[in-house]
Amino acid sequence: MSGRIVVLGGGGFLGSHLCDQLLARGDEVVCVDDFSTGRPANVAHLVGQDRFTMVESDISRSIPVEGPVTGVFNLASPASPPDYLALPLETLAVGSEGTRRGLDLAHRNGARFLMASTSEVYGDPDVHPQSETYWGNVNPVGPRSVYDEAKRFSEALTMAYHRTLGTDVSIVRIFNTYGPRLRPDDGRVVSNFLLQAIQGEPLTVYGDGSQTRSLCFVDDEVRGLIALFDSELVGPVNIGNPDEYTILELAETVVSLLGSSSEIIHLPLPVDDPTRRRPDITVARKELGWEPTTQLRDGLARTAAFLAEDAGIALAAVSTVAGAEADDFGSD
Ligand code: UDP
Repeated sequence: MSGRIVVLGGGGFLGSHLCDQLLARGDEVVCVDDFSTGRPANVAHLVGQDRFTMVESDISRSIPVEGPVTGVFNLASPASPPDYLALPLETLAVGSEGTRRGLDLAHRNGARFLMASTSEVYGDPDVHPQSETYWGNVNPVGPRSVYDEAKRFSEALTMAYHRTLGTDVSIVRIFNTYGPRLRPDDGRVVSNFLLQAIQGEPLTVYGDGSQTRSLCFVDDEVRGLIALFDSELVGPVNIGNPDEYTILELAETVVSLLGSSSEIIHLPLPVDDPTRRRPDITVARKELGWEPTTQLRDGLARTAAFLAEDAGIALAAVSTVAGAEADDFGSD
């Protein structure tokens, strides 16, 4: 049954793909974003469509949405380390006041609330792979704590509304996600490496590159978020791709995929950079029937095509090498 869904952070990388998938299945979508780290271009193709409304607002101050609401997805937050390190107070505000306002909106309307949490709640994990029962190893006073603790607080607040007020909630822990609409200056590893390879610049591996990440393509990730929203699970539920790579392997894959002449250089490792990260997705597989299907090289090729087009670099070179096309990236 279709509904009227509010997507907090709908102008961001992940949020805008969520708006696309919700509209495609017949929902009405109210997108709320202050575009502090999202981009109007992400939703430009939706503005003017019948079932889409854009509301520009910082949700830590107000969520000016009127009328009935059947669901609230809370994806509003800086998500890239350089972004949240540049916006520490805003990140804490959106994860506390913003989440509270989102929960109030859902509760008032009897709507289901989905909290987009993160693998960062596991910190630098000493359990591998990470299942939802692991409580994590977070430095509460390190620079990354503004994001990690904001998300942990959001989880606690979501559970408190559920337990105290009976609000219909679910929590998803999102692992590293990549795809078209990553900002070129986002600073996360996939967009950095792809853009560097496309431009023939050195790929910047932080540390020795032995740290691992497990990368999920955005279409798979969003499908998982919707599956959780449509279920009755409270969670938390890990949604991510369990294929694990070292960052050095990722750099080598990008160079070979794009036939790039870029060299690989090493820069200092950021403070508290997690050494490994891989989701245990047993719960998602069993309870939601969800698993990712996009292979890393396919996803990278599609992301490269987007970034090249965004940077105004001849697409032909990338698409011939990578076999990718730019026609399905919402730039229409
Ligand atoms: N990283 C890197 N080079 C870059 C950007 C990131 O080696 O240009 C590393 C970073 O140190 C981390 C991993 O890639 O180990 C993933 O970083 P990202 O910022 O994408 O997300 P995180 O998982 O740290 O939140």
